[in-house]
Amino acid sequence: PSPPSDAGTADPLRVLREVFGFSAFRPGQAEIVEAVAAGENTLAILPTGGGKSLCYQLPALCRPGLTIVVSPLIALMRDQVRALTEAGVEAGALTSANTEEETDAVLAALRERRLKLLYIAPERLASGATERLLRQADATLIAVDEAHCVSQWGHDFRPDYLRIGALRKSLGLPLAAFTATADEETRAEIVTRLFEGEQPRLFLGGFDRPNLHLAFQPKDNPRRQILAFAAARKGQSGIVYCASRAKTESLAAALRQDGHSACHYHGAMEAGERREVERRFQQEDGLIVAATIAFGMGVDKPDIRWVAHADLPKSIEGYYQEIGRAGRDGAPAETLTLYGPDDIRLRRAQIDEGMAPPERKAADHARLNTLLGLAEALGCRRQRLLRYFGEEREPCGNCDLCDRPPEVFDGTEAVRKALSAMLRTGESFGSGHLIDILTGNVTDKVRARRHDDLPTFGVGRDYDRRQWQAIFRQMMGLDLVRPDPERHGALFMTDPARPVLRGEATVDLRRDALRAQTSRPVAKA
Ligand code: ADP
Ligand code: ZN
Repeated sequence: PSPPSDAGTADPLRVLREVFGFSAFRPGQAEIVEAVAAGENTLAILPTGGGKSLCYQLPALCRPGLTIVVSPLIALMRDQVRALTEAGVEAGALTSANTEEETDAVLAALRERRLKLLYIAPERLASGATERLLRQADATLIAVDEAHCVSQWGHDFRPDYLRIGALRKSLGLPLAAFTATADEETRAEIVTRLFEGEQPRLFLGGFDRPNLHLAFQPKDNPRRQILAFAAARKGQSGIVYCASRAKTESLAAALRQDGHSACHYHGAMEAGERREVERRFQQEDGLIVAATIAFGMGVDKPDIRWVAHADLPKSIEGYYQEIGRAGRDGAPAETLTLYGPDDIRLRRAQIDEGMAPPERKAADHARLNTLLGLAEALGCRRQRLLRYFGEEREPCGNCDLCDRPPEVFDGTEAVRKALSAMLRTGESFGSGHLIDILTGNVTDKVRARRHDDLPTFGVGRDYDRRQWQAIFRQMMGLDLVRPDPERHGALFMTDPARPVLRGEATVDLRRDALRAQTSRPVAKA
């Protein structure tokens, strides 16, 4: 993928996908990116880890000319320049850590107006030469990272940050300031010193959506689970997200058969048909749309009362964005996300088969693991979700696990048996065959491979097939085992599983996953 041209009209979502390789914005990012790209003065306060750098990097690529990034952290600047360069973006840094050659190369690129982003250490701003240079380089935006460094009362005060305000004024550019920590006084000081008291657009953290009830369920009969969830909310507007186009159609039909007003929506429908669904959804009360993620971007209906995922979303960012379409009016809204081993396999395969470079694939696997960790969580989901986005919270009282804390049991022994069955068969089989071995089921395949002679044969008879499936699913969710896409999804053991196998670590598993199918509650009453 190549970075967009200088036309200044690049679509942020496309750049997000093609240049940064992310499927969705994190909470808060889209609004900030839009304002910064539009050249508004902005002050954004996002928690550490919330994804601040994207909020100036992406607008820089959507705007013509050069974006100047002032940051006090040399190592971070160098990291970002390296990552951007690898993504095909022209970026450079001027810091005291540069070699002479590096500086010469950056200066040449600036003169030729090739750079999209220039990272610059604040002490550089002290020289008049820098200002002349930036004037010539077609700079169109200033981004200030760690903007609280401009505050004399803070512990991170950087005297050179005081020059930024004057630079902004003399270049006549919009300025976007970012920080993770800014109490009211520091905010006021940032406004005074960077914007000369002119009020910038303020984005102030707090990405929690406390009115959304969060819930996950392992799939057992996914269609029935979704129908039960919808039946308990008859007459309310809702969205069911599905992983495939075919499923949107079959689920919409099933919902109609159940007496709901429902239709489907996906990217292969004609534009006119799609617009009609959007229009009906907006205007009618109680319509359910079974859709792929193509549905949503343009949906701005405040009173969507529920969002269900019939399949596991792609990433935790996608999950949060999709459930976030419910309850925009602030009134209570319900969400339910189903997940199963096939989803996990599908999502892993999509990552592995993609064109992304290895580091990005590893990062995508890690992001998927975070979502699976959320699915298999043992404590408050909102607390875990917000922690991922950088916010610390008390347990929320508005998720399925706060409603009914799951019972756990020490699953170490079961996990060790499963790992042992995998290792003794050369990590060459999927869970189905491994479960045959564990439960002592003599199939043709078991006999042909003489797996009935293994010491692990039948050692897992204390659980039945369904229960073992739940154990394997949780092991996948905990990233103790992974399917190998090169070998038809044969399970192999990951590093975190090694201490468990050696008896140096224990594993808690959810007991409810082992309960019989019929006794599991399907929807929140
Ligand atoms: P901050 O500067 O706010 O502490 P970063 O900008 O370093 O945070 O981002 C934290 C991490 O989040 C990085 O690994 C980054 O790649 C990742 N990240 C940022 N935005 C997204 C997104 N929209 N989707 C997925 N990952 C993201
Ligand atoms: Zn909770």
